[in-house]
Amino acid sequence: MGKHAATIVVTLALLFSTKTTAQTPAKTSPTATTRPVSPTLKPVPAHPKLIVVIVVDQMRADYVDKFQFQWNSGLKRLLQQGAIFREAAYPYAATETCVGHATISTGALPATSGIVANAWWDRDTQKMVTCTADPNAKNSGYAGATAKGGDSAWRLNVPTFSDELRFQSGAATRVVTFSLKARSAIMLGGHKADAATWVDGGGLVTSNAFGTLPLLDDFAKTHPIKEDYGKTWTLSSPASTYKYDEKATGAVAPGGWDLSFPHPLRGKGANNDPDDAFYSQWATSPYADTYLTKAAEYAIDQLGLGKGGGIDYLGIGYSTPDYVGHAFGPRSREVQDTYVRLDKDLGELFAHLDAKVGVGNYIVALSADHGVAPVPEDMQKSGVSTGVLHMPEVQKKIEDTLRTFNYTAPAVAQIASTDLYFTTGTYDKLKADPAAMKAVLDAIRNVAGAADVYRGEELADRPATRSLLRAAESASYFPGRSGDLLIVPKPYWLSTSGPADKPRDYGTGHGTPYYYDQHVPIIFMGWGIERGEYFGAVTPADIAPTLASLCGITLGTHDGRILSEALIKKSAPAKASTTP
Ligand SMILES: [Zn+2]
Repeated sequence: MGKHAATIVVTLALLFSTKTTAQTPAKTSPTATTRPVSPTLKPVPAHPKLIVVIVVDQMRADYVDKFQFQWNSGLKRLLQQGAIFREAAYPYAATETCVGHATISTGALPATSGIVANAWWDRDTQKMVTCTADPNAKNSGYAGATAKGGDSAWRLNVPTFSDELRFQSGAATRVVTFSLKARSAIMLGGHKADAATWVDGGGLVTSNAFGTLPLLDDFAKTHPIKEDYGKTWTLSSPASTYKYDEKATGAVAPGGWDLSFPHPLRGKGANNDPDDAFYSQWATSPYADTYLTKAAEYAIDQLGLGKGGGIDYLGIGYSTPDYVGHAFGPRSREVQDTYVRLDKDLGELFAHLDAKVGVGNYIVALSADHGVAPVPEDMQKSGVSTGVLHMPEVQKKIEDTLRTFNYTAPAVAQIASTDLYFTTGTYDKLKADPAAMKAVLDAIRNVAGAADVYRGEELADRPATRSLLRAAESASYFPGRSGDLLIVPKPYWLSTSGPADKPRDYGTGHGTPYYYDQHVPIIFMGWGIERGEYFGAVTPADIAPTLASLCGITLGTHDGRILSEALIKKSAPAKASTTP
């Protein structure tokens, strides 16, 4: 299974034998009675001091293979020292940001956690709601930043690993998360993070559902994002080392940028003020990843994360790779260079953790919330059928169909991503009207780019699911929250809420039950982790149960399992050969 560096195994074996001996009564451990532990061994804590969960938004698993030849720092270290799961994939259809982060942080699939999408149609209020929108919460900005709305984790129906960690280990655990996106910072941090911080309107913001940290006021004041105004994103390595064309086919660059490097962070360029265009360029540049890294390091220092009595938790959701990927697609120099820069940022973060928390005292778990489809226009070059499934066309076909059955218009209340919601009472009427129901389902299946459509009641019974596609839809289905119908686009087809007669304002997307959206890396490194490559099929829902096991806590409701193959077995390493 794993490939081992002998020296590391020996060292860890010695360290763990220290720990085992210290915790186990001598009479039950013959090894310990006959072979006293050398006092020269470096003590290892009985538990990790800090858990660092890193979610790289939209990182496809194959980027590890395609791009690692350019990595020399943090990502390379993860590959060299970590446990790498090569066949990790989400087993559900709703491959979106909020859902992925919730799955990683809780170990629960959307059918369990209730987080079925980034946003869905709320049948009670007859409005779209985001996964974090909370009418009882109020957002606020650090260092005078303006914040809109209110966000919390109240729609997350299960506790996160970090919620459980603090609850079970007592007040000593601090939970701190950062991301550009509210849904990432909040889902990573759980219901009561000490600080869940994201970026809005060019500043750092949070919500009164969480704590506020004065140190982040200081950081926001001394490190305003607008300091990056005027910088230019250029290729980090010689152009000949990049795999793809100078201009990515079908790409749609953020406003103010050309389709090829260099990408200046000057907004619309009309004056020297950081405008909205600047902030969206910044979020789509590696400077934003670096900024989050610096914020995290500042929190590590100021709070002494990993130096308290308990196990602290740091979550970082790197959002920039998602913005870059949406704009330029997976086959672009921009995406490739984003990972060169992220490799450097993570290298610096790990060096910082080594210095402040100690080598081997922390655990890093890195994964992604979802992958991404190729840009359709790019994929067409390979001869594969692809395109865009336009939901307004689906909606029109349904209205036209139901008009012939004398249904009141409008029959469709909303199509949110691929979830279709009928107006109140319409779906119940359809269920009692087989001819109209069949006509509706046929109409949807006849729209270009639609592969299939499932009725909610077909998906509610999870054990009854058979096909992989249906099982994936079922694992995403949460009664009362998901659509009445769930539409499945064909492979390599995007789905969009935009009209068919207007050009898209982005390159590509994700959110389907296909492998390019589901397949993500999972890498663990540090305390208690057995390095190596693991090829068994696993899911990101396995991350939280694995961390829970390493921290000695119990998760309540979850769908994942402990990745025991990647854990150092405390009983195994006590080999006589390791004693001088
Ligand atoms: Zn995305």
